[in-house]
Amino acid sequence: MTVILAAIADDYTGASDLANTWRKCGLRTVQTIGVPVDSRLFETIDALVVSLKIRSVPAVDAVASALAAEELLRRIGARHVMYKICSTFDSTDAGNIGPVTDAFMERAGQDWTVVTPAFPETGRTVYKGHLFVNDVPLNESALRHHPLNPMHDANLTRVLARQSKHAVHSLDCQTVALGLESCRAKIAAMPGRRKSIIADAIWDSDLDVLGQLASGGAVSTGASGLGYGLARAALAARPARGSMANLAAVGGRSAVIAGSCSARTLEQIDAAERHMPVLRLDPQRIVSGGGGAVEEALEFARRQLAAGPVLIASSGSPDAVAALQRQHGKHEAGQTIENALAEIAIGLVDAGVRRLVVAGGETSGAVVDKLAIGSFEVGDELAPGVPMLRTIGYPGGELMMALKSGNFGDVNFFAEALARLD
Ligand code: ADP
Repeated sequence: MTVILAAIADDYTGASDLANTWRKCGLRTVQTIGVPVDSRLFETIDALVVSLKIRSVPAVDAVASALAAEELLRRIGARHVMYKICSTFDSTDAGNIGPVTDAFMERAGQDWTVVTPAFPETGRTVYKGHLFVNDVPLNESALRHHPLNPMHDANLTRVLARQSKHAVHSLDCQTVALGLESCRAKIAAMPGRRKSIIADAIWDSDLDVLGQLASGGAVSTGASGLGYGLARAALAARPARGSMANLAAVGGRSAVIAGSCSARTLEQIDAAERHMPVLRLDPQRIVSGGGGAVEEALEFARRQLAAGPVLIASSGSPDAVAALQRQHGKHEAGQTIENALAEIAIGLVDAGVRRLVVAGGETSGAVVDKLAIGSFEVGDELAPGVPMLRTIGYPGGELMMALKSGNFGDVNFFAEALARLD
């Protein structure tokens, strides 16, 4: 039996978010890092999310990696492959949502594809092609300050058109409310040989219609909301395998690493100071290559870890981030800090940490890659969009982790998550 659902995610926290949604729908789900090599993994699961780190790489590299993963998923029998993007449509005019969506559509020989980041339950709605984050348009949300892909336009048809070589249209919520056949008729009348359809969703029930609409084709692009709709459509056609055990405890020491500079993560770091020792790294020192910062952070951790968890953060305010980027360049600054945090993660695991929370999508990617983790079994939800993850076959003993997208979790997320990772 092949997997019921399959996806390729453009970053690791986004992959966890979708895996969490599918697990909550009753699907036994595995999140792999990169393209999985051991196909035995697929024999006992319902759903597979392949995590790539392609949100901020050159479009040509993103397309090549996504197509390679897609090929593997087809080989193991996946009928529909969803390209999982961020629910805040994180991207730049150069991509990579448009180029990957175009490439998937072309390879599938599909004339149109559904594209939607909407997930009303989590405050992401799309109305007339415009994305709202909770109560404000995307460009007025905290995403306008994102260190790598600041979002300055809420009109997604316009945003996607700048990235795509094919036509981009909007499927309005009135048509979605009328149901599947109305959507199909409306799309059939839209001009363009191939087209991406930015689909509105105001209510979670809209996702059922969009899930059915998307599952009629071989590919789609969306966030966890579309994943939810696809799962509902798939489960109506075929039941899941059934029982799912809780993840077995791993024990060991615990820690948090934060590289996200999102508003919510900054609040969470402040709140964590009431519960654990917090080390705020000097980003300027790291990026200037002064040396010693990683080793000092690990000395700090080793002194504290026997008594309880520690938190190590590089995160800075929007002004501080902007100043650092002006001096050193956006990607240079980001990558140097990610590398330092990943080195710290290695040192923490060497010091006996087995339970680890990481804040930030790119940061999680860097940490998980450096730890050379191959795949995770997905467990219960810690906060909306953030599941427990247990490594599968990690050398030296399994790790229990949570990969938190910058804006996810409530203010006490770090202490609460660590209390539940056993
Ligand atoms: P989010 O999930 O909030 O988008 P990410 O980890 O994806 O978080 O992105 C944050 C980026 O900012 C990473 O590339 C990280 O290395 C970088 N970064 C972390 N701290 C700082 C800082 N103080 N100044 C500039 N960039 C930073």
